Amino acid sequence: MGEVNRPTLRGTVVLPIRLRGMSTQHKFFDEQVETILLSEQKVVTRPRNLVELETELHLTNLKNNVGGTFRVVWVNTQAPDGFHSLGLELLEPEGDLWETDLPPPPAEAETTPEAWLECHRCHQKLLTPVPEAAAPFVCEGFVVARHCERCKATTAWGFTTQGEPEVASPKPAEPFPQPREPAPGSSGKKARGRSAQQGTRPHQHARQGHPAEVGDDA
Ligand SMILES: [Zn+2]
Repeated sequence: MGEVNRPTLRGTVVLPIRLRGMSTQHKFFDEQVETILLSEQKVVTRPRNLVELETELHLTNLKNNVGGTFRVVWVNTQAPDGFHSLGLELLEPEGDLWETDLPPPPAEAETTPEAWLECHRCHQKLLTPVPEAAAPFVCEGFVVARHCERCKATTAWGFTTQGEPEVASPKPAEPFPQPREPAPGSSGKKARGRSAQQGTRPHQHARQGHPAEVGDDA
């Protein structure tokens, strides 16, 4: 059994790319990697180099040598196998980047995981939908750039396995009633924590994470 039991995610596209930018050690790197997930605006890949959130990276599609500038939206700071999962968002393409029929982006309701995130600056914890990344990537070591109301700034939010209820903060709005009692007879198999019930719930996506700056959709 050599293969990992990773289910194939919607949006899986493997394309050779070249990534260039600054690593967390302030070293310029130039790495050939492959995409894991791909849509018009977003790329998930796994370079060896660790990069800071919000860093701008240059990506080149090695199939057609068209490049573009991307922003680091999330990253996994841990790399047990030497590779850091990395979520990028397109800032500025230099041409027809992908030149290929990309699979349509999956409906957010199906893919948006929910997890406890902790602001690394003020240490508040929130149970929150994470539309920035697909569920398998939201795990130990996951860090995402987000606006923090308390810090009044974009800060790093890290995955945390458990959250204390915030004293003064209201529960995140749930658009549906969710029965919490354990099902009778379920032998201790409580699905708790992150993303256990995703896929069945009607998730209201009031806001989308797409950058508005990218002007041309032509
Ligand atoms: Zn904060």
